[in-house]
Amino acid sequence: MSRIVIIGAGLAGSLLAIYLAKRGITVDVYEARGDMRLQEVEAGRSINLALSDRGIVALREIGMDEYMLAEAVPMQGRMIHTVSGETKLLPYSGRHGEYINSVSRAGLNIALMNEADKYDGVTFHFNQRCVYFDCASGEAKFSNGVRVKSDTVIATDGAGSAVRNAMLHGGVERFDFSQVWLEHGYKELHIPVGTDGSFQLEKNALHIWPRNKFMMIALPNFDGSFTCTLFLAHKPQDEGGAAFLQLVDEASVVDFFGREFPDATKLMPTLVEDFFANPTGNLGTVKCFPWNAGGNALLLGDSAHAVVPFYGQGMNCAFEDVRVLGQILSEPPASAGGNLDWHWVFEKYGELRKVNTDAIAAMAEENFYEMRDAVADPVFVRKRELETKLEQTFPDYFSKYSMVTFREDLPYSVAKAKGNAQDALLMKLCAEVENVSDLNLDDVLATVKNL
Ligand SMILES: Cc1cc2nc3c(=O)[nH]c(=O)nc-3n(C[C@H](O)[C@H](O)[C@H](O)COP(=O)(O)OP(=O)(O)OC[C@H]3O[C@@H](n4cnc5c(N)ncnc54)[C@H](O)[C@@H]3O)c2cc1C
Repeated sequence: MSRIVIIGAGLAGSLLAIYLAKRGITVDVYEARGDMRLQEVEAGRSINLALSDRGIVALREIGMDEYMLAEAVPMQGRMIHTVSGETKLLPYSGRHGEYINSVSRAGLNIALMNEADKYDGVTFHFNQRCVYFDCASGEAKFSNGVRVKSDTVIATDGAGSAVRNAMLHGGVERFDFSQVWLEHGYKELHIPVGTDGSFQLEKNALHIWPRNKFMMIALPNFDGSFTCTLFLAHKPQDEGGAAFLQLVDEASVVDFFGREFPDATKLMPTLVEDFFANPTGNLGTVKCFPWNAGGNALLLGDSAHAVVPFYGQGMNCAFEDVRVLGQILSEPPASAGGNLDWHWVFEKYGELRKVNTDAIAAMAEENFYEMRDAVADPVFVRKRELETKLEQTFPDYFSKYSMVTFREDLPYSVAKAKGNAQDALLMKLCAEVENVSDLNLDDVLATVKNL
């Protein structure tokens, strides 16, 4: 029987442990932090996440989709908040039943660990931070001096991966690597549940306060509260531009929020405390290749391809990684000769997956500008209206957002190519009319199909 070491018991690592255990593979999972089931989760690491179809399908394969969705809050669209407090809902899809789900990161991670623990072949080792990995021998060294050698290691140790570092620093020849930081950082803030236990904003929406150079979003939590995330430049980008560097005391924070997000600020009684207690996070895109050191090690999830969070796809993509790896393991060449040929599996996985993770990385960056600027642009608002109408009228029409979010059968690279061509066409059509009703939907669909 095969034995695998997984480094990192986050979302991808815990799901992967279940997928492998289901195939009878013995798995040891080494996690830097303590067992989150026994301790409070640290503040500031995205408390909730948008779970959509690619992630749901991966959970379905291990029988956990219904369990997780029972604890999720459906979000039907983006609720745009203007400075003067007007709101407008832009649905995510014109089709009934297509929405995304706000889930607790810790709740999901804990549920996956509990499920993995049901398999005799899975063992978690907590407080084990990998500090060194030998790509040639497959030996991992941990900060407490423990050394573990395995023929096969899968690194799901997130965006700052120690195993990737070892590959970069001599472990893998001609290892391509890039890390590009966004000038914007993020900070999580809180809108509490109402005094009568109610949601203080529309429950079934992802709220956005787009302000051109920056924005705030809020996702509902199952308990009635909302977690807000402010995305703002670290340093001023132009004279008078807002930036984290300028929000240094209570007066500047209260002034900024009261001016830019007055409706939300009224609902944030602990704004100032939260602002200074919670860390300011960095956002970046990591790309690297190859993802494997022969058959000894593979990078999967954020360790291989961290993306900025603006398409709500990082975790969904990591879950899809696990599903694709599972499919490859079922292909006959994977177990030719009776033993799993990990080298073949890892090579095949990289071949299939890289083009798709590059596609979602690019779309996630583009979506930052869409959420920050375009949602307040009248042509873009008309385009969303047109897309919704097309989806309501024609069952086989899918916007780019829908292809990425609701079509797990379409690779990200296909969604990107088709979606970008559609976007350009629809923006052009919407710039030429005052109202979407001036456009003939049959003609628009025919033009889209000819792209
Ligand atoms: C602000 C924000 C909002 C986001 N929103 C969404 C969203 O709405 N939808 C979505 O799909 N994605 C979202 N994401 C992305 C998502 O969080 C990641 O893509 C996802 O967590 C990746 O899972 P992972 O298991 O690869 O990495 P992680 O979840 O980062 O897990 C890595 C694990 O490895 C452990 N570890 C790290 N280093 C070591 C080491 N040296 N040794 C041992 N263990 C180690 C860590 O403690 C952790 O448990 C968001 C990200 C951010 C920052």
